[in-house]
Amino acid sequence: MAVQEQRKTGEKTVDCDILVVGGGIAGLSLASALAGRTDVLVAEAEPTLGFHTSSRSARQLIPSYGPAVIQDLTVRTLALIRALEVHLPKPVLTARSFLLVGSEESVRDRASGHMHPITPAQMMALAPELKPGHFPAAGLDTTSVGCDTDALMDYHRRRILDRGARILTGAPVRSACREAGGDSNGRWVTEAGEQSITSRVVVNAAGAWADELADLYSVRRRGLQPYRRTAAVVDVEHPLADGAPMVADADETFYYRADGNRVLVSPSESVPSAPMDARPHPGDVAALVELVNSVTTLGITGIVRSWTGLRTQTADGLPVVGYDDVVPGFFWLAGQGGYGFQTSSGLAETAAAMLQGEEPELPVAEALSPARPGL
Ligand SMILES: Cc1cc2nc3c(=O)[nH]c(=O)nc-3n(C[C@H](O)[C@H](O)[C@H](O)COP(=O)(O)OP(=O)(O)OC[C@H]3O[C@@H](n4cnc5c(N)ncnc54)[C@H](O)[C@@H]3O)c2cc1C
Repeated sequence: MAVQEQRKTGEKTVDCDILVVGGGIAGLSLASALAGRTDVLVAEAEPTLGFHTSSRSARQLIPSYGPAVIQDLTVRTLALIRALEVHLPKPVLTARSFLLVGSEESVRDRASGHMHPITPAQMMALAPELKPGHFPAAGLDTTSVGCDTDALMDYHRRRILDRGARILTGAPVRSACREAGGDSNGRWVTEAGEQSITSRVVVNAAGAWADELADLYSVRRRGLQPYRRTAAVVDVEHPLADGAPMVADADETFYYRADGNRVLVSPSESVPSAPMDARPHPGDVAALVELVNSVTTLGITGIVRSWTGLRTQTADGLPVVGYDDVVPGFFWLAGQGGYGFQTSSGLAETAAAMLQGEEPELPVAEALSPARPGL
């Protein structure tokens, strides 16, 4: 991806107020919200930002997707992104509705304020590539949008650097200890790559590695489980029309959307994985091509590229955001699952308020608390 030019500090020991570990959309959005308000530093293990899950998404923001807390965060994120778009040469968001297809029951289960039922005839008018007889019911979310996720991350990267905050890449956090005892006045000393970083607070925005990072700080894990999800860009005989909605099966066996003249497809799988640089299983993509060709007239003729990312979730499916309830100065920002972009600015705003001792705009602190039951 095109996110580059980080500022290196050149010194062996650096000091900051808040160290954010992880340079994906979560860490970058938060550092962007904090930059200029406090001395923040991002440490990313990889040489480039967004290398893991954040460069592997389907780039769609869907207000009707997920539990109520996620939907509220998504609506707030859309408003915040629309406000920042005025600073960009072209919009980050583009109109692209979300069409959910399936049985009466499975579509009804996903109904919400943002998704309204439509008739089979309306479904066929919106997605004429669907072969008749497979999907008796459909719901439409017209508030859903596509998102240029690279441009969004690049906006946050520039905002961080422009406000004098720092980003270190190639800086894997390998060990940490508490200076001056374990009380709330102590500071963290974190070894990241060649750097020794002292900070008042450490933010865990380490994506699939969030529980492993907690181990390094002797913080109790929160059961954050990464799940594989694969996507591919394919050539098709019959490209989707301009303005075509993203189409998803309510039983989560596939989704697709236009990608220029090509089509992005996913088998929507959720298979547990260890944290890693995940890669597609060739059989999964071949089976997906067969499935999509059987239910649509798209006519997939070849796979241009395919990739796999890890969507990391807690047991209740909600992110974990807030100060650890036992270890002082350790703040969680993890478990965004399949909602990391659509909740990014809302979560960053919430986390930034908590870190600055302010009341968050959205009343989600309790629902996302690291101390909630079941984690
Ligand atoms: C196929 C697929 C489709 C998706 N589609 C969508 C979508 O349409 N809309 C949406 O909202 N979401 C979508 N998602 C989910 C979204 O991509 C994720 O929720 C989001 O990218 C997670 O961001 P993150 O910053 O938490 O994680 P990451 O991007 O993985 O960032 C975490 C970073 O932490 C770094 N790190 C880890 N350990 C350390 C350490 N010890 N030291 C330093 N750095 C460390 C890693 O190198 C990594 O760069 C999709 C995901 C997948 C896989």
